[in-house]
Amino acid sequence: MSRFFSKKYQNLKAYTPGEQPRDMQYIKLNTNESPYPPSPSVLPSVEAEAEKLALYSDPECTALVSEAAALFGIERSEILMTNGSDEILNFAFMAFCDADHPIVFPDITYGFYPVFAQLGGIPYETIPLKEDFTIDVNDYIGIGKNIVIANPNAPTGLALTLDEIEKIVASNPENIVVIDEAYVDFGAQSAVGLTKKYENLLVTQTFSKSRSMAGARLGFGIACRALIADLCTVKYSTNPYNVNRMTMAAGTAALRENAYYMENCKKIEQTRAYTKKALEEMGFFVTDSKANFLFAKSDRISGETLYRELKKRGVLVRHFSAERICEYNRITVGTREQMDVFLDRTREILSEMQ
Ligand code: PMP
Repeated sequence: MSRFFSKKYQNLKAYTPGEQPRDMQYIKLNTNESPYPPSPSVLPSVEAEAEKLALYSDPECTALVSEAAALFGIERSEILMTNGSDEILNFAFMAFCDADHPIVFPDITYGFYPVFAQLGGIPYETIPLKEDFTIDVNDYIGIGKNIVIANPNAPTGLALTLDEIEKIVASNPENIVVIDEAYVDFGAQSAVGLTKKYENLLVTQTFSKSRSMAGARLGFGIACRALIADLCTVKYSTNPYNVNRMTMAAGTAALRENAYYMENCKKIEQTRAYTKKALEEMGFFVTDSKANFLFAKSDRISGETLYRELKKRGVLVRHFSAERICEYNRITVGTREQMDVFLDRTREILSEMQ
């Protein structure tokens, strides 16, 4: 740390992204990317846009916003496009939280939430998940603080129902509820429809998972017009051209080919069920994930050992050292072929442990 670093950031613990290794070719099941390429018209659209790199991108993301508004059945003024959904989440913390408006979230969830809070000097509290890693909805009813919940949650994969989400939103009318739907397309219920009814609800989604565009960095938030206007004020006060030309073209093309992506999500759901069953047959406990990853542990091997042994054998999964979940690994659902390699290597490791 230099002596110039602002005091307000001196204790900041930055978010640690999952490994993006360059040392060898891994079967990469550690950062929940899609194993499928973008739809056919995405690459040509990006190429055409690259020719105009000398010019700034459209700060209003006009074509992309129109396409998304049509797909989600909302007005153009009810959506904001951002540089990954990390950015819309950060904007939400900036726009709606401060010393008088603290935020709560589960103790086990997306590791970026406490970082956004610390970055903004925002007081936050964590609410323990139940023993089985489910969220106790009663903990959030009428809590009177801002709330962020990932649905499905990460890294557990467990989802709340729409009724449960609505109860939380309806019981906290003076506070903002952010529902982070990064993984919603793999089998959970989206709360986008509730944004018509509740002025305190912000739903965030991403193109990184179900839409095969993690490297392009595109996310968005959907909420009533007034909340989106607030988020726009923050965006225009930080980075008006937050979505670059190529990403904007890629996103617009992707939304026009939505069926392709929904088909891929179905394939991933099938592969998830196949992999879960195979892991259970090996004696693993696997949560009932509605996301594009599994969360699993075995009594026969520690979470960290399995992670290391798999890595030695060219398969990368995500291990977290937090106490409640250190026996688990989070395994992205790839193609059936990738999962067969993962399962074979896991069997091999377990048999060598005997
Ligand atoms: N929310 C959750 C729960 C996530 O796991 C992630 C992925 N790291 C994100 C948001 C952010 O993803 P992105 O910025 O790629 O949209």
